[in-house]
Amino acid sequence: MICVICKNKKMKRGATVLPIERRKAVLLVTDIPARICANCGEPYIDERTAKQVEALATEELKATSV
Ligand SMILES: [Zn+2]
Repeated sequence: MICVICKNKKMKRGATVLPIERRKAVLLVTDIPARICANCGEPYIDERTAKQVEALATEELKATSV
């Protein structure tokens, strides 16, 4: 995997934060497992994780909406 920002090939494991936007709300999902570029710190989330985060955010917003 190559970083699209700085073309660095070294990734480290880490966690990131992703804002999920819905019509009127933005939910900030924290502690998402991600690969972090060792050079510039750009986070990369794999597709499966991204889908899980989306599903989680949808559930959370459903639960909190009036
Ligand atoms: Zn980078």
